[in-house]
This record gives sequence, structure tokens and C-alpha cells, in this order.
Amino acid sequence: MALGLNSSVFQNPGGPSPELAPSASSNDAFSFWKLPENWRDVLGPMVVASRAGAEHYLFELYLDEKQRCPPAALGTYYGIRKFIPRGVRHWLNSTAIHARRRNGFPNWPCESVLLDFWREWLKQAMEKLRISDGWHIGFWPGETRCCVVLTHDVESPTGLERMERIADIEQRYGFLSSWNLPLAQYPIDWLRVERLRARGFEIGAHGLAHDGKLFRSEADFAELGPLLERLAREHSLVGFRSPSTLRRAEWIASMAFEYDSSFADTDPYEPQPGGCCSIFPFHLGGLLELPYTLPQDHTLIHIIHRDPLQMWCLKAQWIAAAGGMILLLTHPDYIGTGEYLARYEEFLKRLRDLPQAWHALPSAVAGWWRRRSRMSLSIENGQPVIKGDDTTGAVAVRFSREPLCE
Ligand SMILES: [Zn+2]
Repeated sequence: MALGLNSSVFQNPGGPSPELAPSASSNDAFSFWKLPENWRDVLGPMVVASRAGAEHYLFELYLDEKQRCPPAALGTYYGIRKFIPRGVRHWLNSTAIHARRRNGFPNWPCESVLLDFWREWLKQAMEKLRISDGWHIGFWPGETRCCVVLTHDVESPTGLERMERIADIEQRYGFLSSWNLPLAQYPIDWLRVERLRARGFEIGAHGLAHDGKLFRSEADFAELGPLLERLAREHSLVGFRSPSTLRRAEWIASMAFEYDSSFADTDPYEPQPGGCCSIFPFHLGGLLELPYTLPQDHTLIHIIHRDPLQMWCLKAQWIAAAGGMILLLTHPDYIGTGEYLARYEEFLKRLRDLPQAWHALPSAVAGWWRRRSRMSLSIENGQPVIKGDDTTGAVAVRFSREPLCE
């Protein structure tokens, strides 16, 4: 696990960074849209410039360096956390968050700056090419026009016990989901976990423990990162979400997972507030980043005391209207019983009824986005042709039919 800190794109935004971002994995606008290859030369400088423009948001470069890593004061909190009763902990968190000076950016619960950026870039590209419509490789497979992903972080043995009950409800509405486990925090009943996996559910790594150590310092990361990767490999876990979503983008980018889901599109309520402003996957070194895009259950229930169902429906509609990825992060520990579970079930019903939505596991979304990155589009005799080693599911979509362009 080489940290590669000196050569990373983060010290040189927009500059070349071959080991972190090979050309097929770039976050520039051409690669985001997947446009016809014969446009590339004409749009050259615009393509190059768009990468730094997008990564300014994707990698949270709009924050100063200190804000892009876990706050130092967290160390003290984690040191005494286990002595504080859970109810008091929620109150403390809530008080601290309300007292924190809010940046006001990204906006919450919806931030459209990056969507506007993609749209405006495409508009300028079409002006340059003197065309009013065109083709791109659709964001999602087949006839689907948005994506729905359900994920859970399991914080305690209580959460672990509730997994199957929630999984039963999800399957009743045609969903599968992923379950991220902290691998060294409490004893995990792997037989129970494997039963879920045998039913088609996915299991991911929720770090080692909620102790704030993984991204605390370079020395901690050098010691704990390989241990985490080894445990994940032993249990065939390909996805990662950092405990408490604490993060350092360039360190996550160096980890041996297929995807990460530690970024929100916008989340001012986490211990490390911020957001990548994206409701689409993007490349983070060799990983795919799948940002969670709906407010967390914990935030709504314990921090700001809002009805989760209402907020989730509002945001899900907004994302679907833009053709993006609705990615929900809930905890069986918080929504696994009573009225909250009923609200969750009601939300699943609403998601099921969303038209042209691709219901997918995070590993499938990461795999799809990676494959899509490697495809190319050309126009032959006026018709779009998609090429690549595996183009299964890929379709060419006209901009005029693309939700993001509306
Ligand atoms: Zn957690």
C-alpha cells in the first residue's frame, strides 16, 4: 500500500497523475458523458480543463486541507466515547453539530453545482461543434434511467441481529442490499452473515472499528490499512465504507478495494462535513467512488429530528429527475425496529414504484461504471456504435432523451 502522497493529484490539482488515474479512468467531462470519439480532438483543451473543474468538487478541493481529513478534536472524543451512554452521545453529537459554523456549501439536502457544470460543459461542446443534439453512452444499462442502491452499516451486535429481518422486507419489494461490517469492533457471527450472502446480498468492510484511528495519521494508516485489507480479503469483501465516513481521499484511492462509499454528495452533519457534489459514480485512484446520496437515518432521527420518509422521498425524486444514483445508507441499529422500520418499508415501496430504475448492488454499479469507462462510442453512417471488450447492457442515448439534459 504505497501512499504516493507526494505524487498525488491532490498536491497538483488537474496535473498529470498516471498512477492514480490512467486515461480510461479520468473524471473529465468527455469521460463522464462518453461522447463520440471523433469529437475528442476538436474539444481537446475543453476536455483537459474539465477534469480539474470536476475534481475540484469530487475530491472536496474547495475545502482547505485541514477540512479534508478527520478533525483533530475527534481523537479526544473517541478516547472517552465508550464511557458515555448512547443517549447522551446522541445529544452531544447533536449539540456539537448545531454549534459548528456551517459552511453553507455544499447546499443540503440538494447541491446541483456539479450537475450544472456537466450540463454547461456539454452545451458549450455542442456550440463548438455547431450541433443541437447528439449521442452518448447512457449512464445506466438497458432502458433504465436512474439507479437505486441500498447499503447498511452495522454498528453493533444488535444491528447484526436485525439484518435478516430487514433483508426479508427488502426482498419482498424486489431489492438486495449491501451490509458493511466493522471487522474488529465486536464479534461477528459469520455464519449469519454468510446466510445473507448466499441469498444474494453483498457484504462490505466498514473499516476496523469506530475509533477514528484509520485516517488519523500516516503511521496509523500504514499499520491499520494492511490489516483491514487482509481481513477484507479473507472474507471476500470488495467494498469499503470508512467508520463515521472519516476520510482522506488520496489514502482511500490507494486501498485495495473495488469501490469506496465514504463520500456523500452533501453531508454537513457528519464529524467530517463536506461532500463530493456528485450523484454519479466517479474514479478515485483505482477505485470507483459510489457516494451516498440520501441523508443518513442517524442524521434525520437523532441529529435534526426530521421524518426520514419525507426527506428520502424528496431527495430521491430530485436524483431520479436528473437520472442519477439514489444511494441510501441506513443502519439496522437505528431503523431496525418499530416505527422507523415501518418508514423504511414504506420508502422501499416508493422506490419500487420509481419508473425505469436500475436496482443494483454497489459492486454491480462499480463493475458497470468501470466497464462503461472502457467503452468507446463512434458514429458510423449516422448511427451510434458502442465498442469495448464487454458492452453488455450499454445503449447510446440522445442528449434530448437524457434526464440530466432536461
Ligand atoms: Zn458506522
